[in-house]
Amino acid sequence: MSKPVVAVVGRPNVGKSTLFNALAGERISIVKDTPGVTRDRIYADVEWLNHSFTMVDTGGIEPDSKDVILAQMREQAEIAIATADVIIFMTDVHQGLVDADAKVADMLRRSHKPVILVVNKVDSFQKYMADVYEFYNLGIGDPMPISAASRLGLGDMLEEVVKHFPDTSKEEEEDTRPKVAIIGKPNVGKSSLVNKLAGESRVIVSDIAGTTRDAIDTVVKYNGKEYIFIDTAGLRRKNKIKEEIERYSIIRAVTAVERADVVILVIDATEGVTEQDAKIAGIAHERGKGIIIAVNKWDAIEKDDKTIYKHTNKIREILSFMSYAEIMFISAKTGQRLSKMYEMIDMVLENNAMRVATGVLNEIMTEAVAMQQPPSDKGKRLRLYYITQVAVKPPTFVIFVNDKELMHFSYTRYLENRIRDTFGFKGTALKFIIRERK
Ligand code: GDP
Ligand code: GDP
Repeated sequence: MSKPVVAVVGRPNVGKSTLFNALAGERISIVKDTPGVTRDRIYADVEWLNHSFTMVDTGGIEPDSKDVILAQMREQAEIAIATADVIIFMTDVHQGLVDADAKVADMLRRSHKPVILVVNKVDSFQKYMADVYEFYNLGIGDPMPISAASRLGLGDMLEEVVKHFPDTSKEEEEDTRPKVAIIGKPNVGKSSLVNKLAGESRVIVSDIAGTTRDAIDTVVKYNGKEYIFIDTAGLRRKNKIKEEIERYSIIRAVTAVERADVVILVIDATEGVTEQDAKIAGIAHERGKGIIIAVNKWDAIEKDDKTIYKHTNKIREILSFMSYAEIMFISAKTGQRLSKMYEMIDMVLENNAMRVATGVLNEIMTEAVAMQQPPSDKGKRLRLYYITQVAVKPPTFVIFVNDKELMHFSYTRYLENRIRDTFGFKGTALKFIIRERK
């Protein structure tokens, strides 16, 4: 289930965004009402032939001096090495080879990660091929000429990329232990939470079989059952520009969420919920993972009888796209309410994997339609024929209708709410696919 991660590293202006656009196309945003996430091209889901993977752009804001460029590229490479299965190192045939490229290539070579060296802007093979050979000097393999703008050479490049994907089919089948990712902005208390949840029974395992990522996972045994906590805290950096820190925390979150069954989104009570939290939350929502919202540092704020109510309201407003998620008010410092956390994780896991019988679903739909007439347009009314659940993780439903165009978002939402009234599905997104039947 967990998708490979491909990171793109390269200097500003070599064409990373252009490559993103070319590969991700319209698949870049799935949920329109997820704030933030759709605006930033930090990561995208790519599908090519029968492969699907997550691509992350490690390049941040544009630095203004050479020294800064090198420093930033080193960080990009560091992130890529820590999180990606395959790294695309992108250069530019017009800019040619520069010193920073060589230094970063050294770093990548030492990491022993699969690296695909790509030379972009080769708009004409005839004209530029001689210049491409220069890139052999980097010592990280054959340079692959592409033109991201004119979509040349992308197929060959992808073929090379997918060759290096780890064979996860075996690993996934064998390891049925729930994987829990703890995500959130820096300093909200993610590490503290893992430490406290792990308590005495903490075992750190790096190098999980079958993955090529340097993830540091913690296995915790609770009530005789093992859970794997996926670390996203790592890679701390000081004195960084705010935008950069945000970008990195998003990249960390994406790669962790990709591997997780359940996601705990940690929010800092002393700061309150922010747009940045919404961006990170959107990652878990889009991927249909089970979600728990943990408002941490509850010990550190002044409280009266309205505090919980106020926090809840604000979270429901900013994270309106995940009204299904439970909110917990916790303290990683004092351990307040942490004993409930495992219970919550189990419940969310169960709901994320729940199957509902087709007969009951159709009863609910028939009743819902009788209660509230489906929308119509230009004299044509939406007709709903049949609903069935086709997948779990997340629970996914197909609804057959007479005309897809008539199925408004709000009516799907209405049906979703009716289904939730009956089955709850607390802590998990539900996915609806609308199909036409003539
Ligand atoms: P990034 O900073 O690495 O994300 O680079 P961008 O994707 O923003 O591209 C920088 C510039 O290079 C833009 O003006 C692009 O139009 C241009 N560019 C990107 N790919 C190609 C290409 O394949 N051929 C040419 N000639 N220009 C390109
Ligand atoms: P991370 O960057 O999200 O992993 O955050 P850390 O776990 O490193 O915590 C950041 C800071 O918040 C540290 O100084 C912690 O001691 C503090 N902290 C974490 N959890 C709590 C909590 O529940 N209450 C209080 N008062 N402080 C906390």
